[in-house]
Amino acid sequence: MLKLCTACNNPDARRPGAYAEAVTSILVVEDEPTLAEAIAARLRAEGFATHLAGDGPAAVRTAQEHLPDLIVLDVMLPGFDGLEVCRRIQAERAVPVLMVTARDDESDLIEGLRTGADDYLTKPFSMRELIARVHALLRRVERAAEIGAGGGAESAGAGNVIPIGTGFGPGTAAAARTPQPLRFMAIGTSAGARMLEIDPAQRRVRIGAGRSQDEAHLTPTEFDLLACLAGQPRTVLTREKLLAEVWDWLDASGTRTVDSHVKAVRRKIGADWIRTVHGVGYALEAEPVLGDSLEAAGR
Ligand code: CA
Repeated sequence: MLKLCTACNNPDARRPGAYAEAVTSILVVEDEPTLAEAIAARLRAEGFATHLAGDGPAAVRTAQEHLPDLIVLDVMLPGFDGLEVCRRIQAERAVPVLMVTARDDESDLIEGLRTGADDYLTKPFSMRELIARVHALLRRVERAAEIGAGGGAESAGAGNVIPIGTGFGPGTAAAARTPQPLRFMAIGTSAGARMLEIDPAQRRVRIGAGRSQDEAHLTPTEFDLLACLAGQPRTVLTREKLLAEVWDWLDASGTRTVDSHVKAVRRKIGADWIRTVHGVGYALEAEPVLGDSLEAAGR
């Protein structure tokens, strides 16, 4: 009771966006001690608190014990691998995971994203790259927490910051003040047959219409990627642009990250919504639908 009142009178104590001020703890799971210590040292230099684990079981135990705010997770580990670690940890508590893999194997990456990892790095990577990804991931989680704290569309009043990629930015100022679900219809299908609904306020994605509507459970990164594409439907966005907008990261060598996340999104919402333009990028192949039209189509 007393604690609750104290918290109410001290907004900073409960502010979800306080990651920059509060000490954010990061669990580093890596079985090469030199690399593990180098990563941890760099994270500490950035102001993070760190915990270390060198194998699968230790990673799960340390995560349970210290409840880290983020996990940097190597895939190849003694005991059981990073994918299994991710499954076990995520089953208990949602925590952002940056997966690190030495294998240049796409199926491995896709599997990592499927087990609940939010982003990944392929070895070898630079410390600068790692730190950029950590900050980007924390910012994304922070945005999601703010949405959660702010509630749904009802409380999304004037001055609310649009939470997702800049796709919903300039030109849609009214939408940004009160983010309404964006609705799309697959090109070439009749009304009600193939609908896609993206709700920026609740960060939810639904497929289909009316009673046959199913929710697609996207990770925060996958949601931002889809929302970015949806901000400019039928327009090809380059991998570099998507990297910059979704990952806050301007380095073209990371474009395979975009490819893997697109694959993961396709698995969840259906393959044909996102068109690949080989050598260039991706486009959402769908027609925006006004709210009223969807009501008419789906109900
Ligand atoms: Ca390893």
